[in-house]
Amino acid sequence: MKILVVNCGSSSIKYQLFDMPERSLLAKGMVERIGDREAAMIHQENEKRERQKIDAADHDQAMVAIMQRLMGELGAAGSPRRSSLAASAAADANASLGETRPREPIGAVGHRVVHGGEQFTGSVRIDDAVLASIEEMAHLAPLHNPPNLAGIRAAMHALPGAPQVACFDTAFHATIPQVAYMYALPYELYEKLGVRRYGFHGTSHRYVARRAAAILGREKYDINCITCHLGNGSSITAVRDGRSVDTSMGLTPLEGLVMGTRCGDIDPAILFFLAQNGYEFDKLNDLCNKKSGVLGVSGSSNDMRTLIEQSAAGNERATLAIDIFCYRVKKYIGAYHAVLGRLDAIVFTGGIGENATMVREKICAGMEPLGIAIDRKKNEQPSSKERQIDAGGGVAILVVPTDEEGVIAADTYQLATQ
Ligand code: ADP
Repeated sequence: MKILVVNCGSSSIKYQLFDMPERSLLAKGMVERIGDREAAMIHQENEKRERQKIDAADHDQAMVAIMQRLMGELGAAGSPRRSSLAASAAADANASLGETRPREPIGAVGHRVVHGGEQFTGSVRIDDAVLASIEEMAHLAPLHNPPNLAGIRAAMHALPGAPQVACFDTAFHATIPQVAYMYALPYELYEKLGVRRYGFHGTSHRYVARRAAAILGREKYDINCITCHLGNGSSITAVRDGRSVDTSMGLTPLEGLVMGTRCGDIDPAILFFLAQNGYEFDKLNDLCNKKSGVLGVSGSSNDMRTLIEQSAAGNERATLAIDIFCYRVKKYIGAYHAVLGRLDAIVFTGGIGENATMVREKICAGMEPLGIAIDRKKNEQPSSKERQIDAGGGVAILVVPTDEEGVIAADTYQLATQ
């Protein structure tokens, strides 16, 4: 069955087409700058990458263009609905997107949805009630849930017959106990507004925790591990018996680790202090989410690769940014080790976790008394595969490339064929 996985942002739709259950990736790409005259589709298939301007005034139009590109003009159930082609204006513009071959229709669509609140503890088939709940949850994720919803609606319009599935970033963290998810704020804020820690990147943490169990020859619920998803957005999760019991991101993805542009944990009184010094709400929001993290400290880049190069060339602020990033991860590993008691593995994933040798080494340095010892040679061995890089200190150190889209495809296939 062909499964389309969709990750919808406010001005972009990323997509991947899988053949299931083999989980083979057939094509991937994105439409960017939706709503802009410069909207474009970047499509990758058979090792060929094309970028072409398209008409995509809204998510509906972008989704139809994606379906057309993926499916060709099939005319079968599951093919793009002609009526949604806006009198074919888009169709004409998009007809130039290259050769389109008739294919087996898309059987189902899986959507990444950022916030599932307390209601969604796993992936679900989307019906009217689920749509309404995702809409309700938009107050918790005002930047993310509305575009996710727009993507779902666009896919429903374009493929009215196909089952649609929602996979939530928060769902894996539904098992976090109250002692870990409550903030020490007045209790009614939790009751009235849902102020609590939810956690994000759940699909990634779940996948790498399951892979870690498999690599160590254990059952999926027979592992205690700390999963470090280190990318532009970063979070770390304590997993006991295969289930999330604590995570660093909170009510929003701002809390926890130092990230590309987000500050992570800070003294909340800094915000009062800045407010007293003339910083208004929007400026504070922008400061903490877009101007902080390693970008804020280095003053030069949010990109770890660039910072590593700058640091090697003697840029002290770049070195400081990397050091602060690593120190925060180390501190959380110590805290979660204490939470878990027994620790079987530390798992690195995400663009930085999978690739940045120096970052992994810095994070693990000096934790030998905790059984955490990295093998320098194994750590430096270039690879894009799953690998074990510890020196046998008792705690396995693993690098596991994440596969969030593959997980969404698998959940979607399972729910669509039930
Ligand atoms: P996102 O959170 O946007 O999904 P990614 O998981 O793709 O982010 O991670 C992006 C980060 O990974 C960037 O900071 C990038 O510099 C870093 N990265 C990617 N490859 C390397 C590498 N070879 N060495 C160091 N950092 C890398």
